[in-house]
Amino acid sequence: MNVPFYSHGLGPDAAQAVADVLGGPFLTSGAVGRAVEDQLRAFFSVPHAALTNSWTNGAVAVLLALDIGPGDEVIVPAMTFAATANVAALLGAKPVFVDVDPATLLMTPEGVRAALSPRTRAVIPVHLYGQMVDVARLRREGLAGHGHVAIIEDCAHCFEGLLDGEPPGRHSDAAIFSFYATKNVTCGEGGAVITRRDDLYQALLQTRLHGMSAGAADRFKGGSYGHWDMLRLGCKANLPDLLAALLPPQIATVRDRLAEREALAQRYETAFAGTALRLPAPVPNAVHARHLFPVGLPAGRRDRALNVLSQAGIGATVNYRAVTSLAWYREAQGTRPEDFPVATAWGDATISLPLFPGLTEAQQDHVIATLCGVLEEDFL
Ligand SMILES: *Cc1c(COP(=O)(O)O)cnc(C)c1O
Repeated sequence: MNVPFYSHGLGPDAAQAVADVLGGPFLTSGAVGRAVEDQLRAFFSVPHAALTNSWTNGAVAVLLALDIGPGDEVIVPAMTFAATANVAALLGAKPVFVDVDPATLLMTPEGVRAALSPRTRAVIPVHLYGQMVDVARLRREGLAGHGHVAIIEDCAHCFEGLLDGEPPGRHSDAAIFSFYATKNVTCGEGGAVITRRDDLYQALLQTRLHGMSAGAADRFKGGSYGHWDMLRLGCKANLPDLLAALLPPQIATVRDRLAEREALAQRYETAFAGTALRLPAPVPNAVHARHLFPVGLPAGRRDRALNVLSQAGIGATVNYRAVTSLAWYREAQGTRPEDFPVATAWGDATISLPLFPGLTEAQQDHVIATLCGVLEEDFL
């Protein structure tokens, strides 16, 4: 039996939405994307939302809008996808890594406090796997006396998550989402930034598009050509309407699909209770976005599990080896895996199992039986 790691679930409606854009003259960022930005503003109850062509380019645009560059430091967790740290490094700033909580695998206020320096300009907490970092507490306890340090939430795993009833974007300077192919809301490649800060939003509109003072749609407003100027350095991070057209129905139904993800995740949890598999601890008072279902294998068993799952036709991935263990960071930044024991150990032990709406019970049972078979080998 084949069990894919992920299935996007987009159907004929999505094809029609793209065809509708193709039927008009305007393929890049325009009215379709602006309507999605309105939808995001309403969904998250924030004053500003800006679509981007990836989380990564959105984060680069935000860091540019905050004037973060050489000489600056950005605090990031060691347990995340490389992009979280790469965006700082790309701009010549220094990613400063902190280890994560051993139970939840999330960034902690204590870790951030210990990593602060006079050069710290931003912190990027990651809502790993879909569980939210307590950003209000991070601000209060991690950044006490450092009010100028920006908090940028990495919400690539957490579109639907809540903490104390609040969605991302409440207590941060900006929150950034990914609509990459495997994410809970997807258009293949894409992303979005939400912010409550007017100044940051105005700067972001420029850094998202070459630093220009007006986008393509605005340059022709009123039927006459308006010259644009370039007021600051920007990147190319705007999302075309061809892709934005895939988002509205997914955003409208994301909570229904979360119920299905939650049921599947709980079914895995019940099956694995009492086994040697480690699961991240649940965050209290939170709604988990259930983006990924990671488990930790007993020491030294991870790669065996990956091979056995693959031979059984099951798609599994690793999210993630610690960023501090990756070759470029060890060589260019001198990171040492032993300085981040929690992230390093989890990164050497974890695999993510298939989790998507539409995964059948028979498929899930095949995953469970195959993985439990690997655990039993330990007793042979
Ligand atoms: C996917 C992901 C990103 C990068 O998203 P892109 O849209 O592919 O740039 C960043 N952070 C985390 C935690 C991710 O999982």
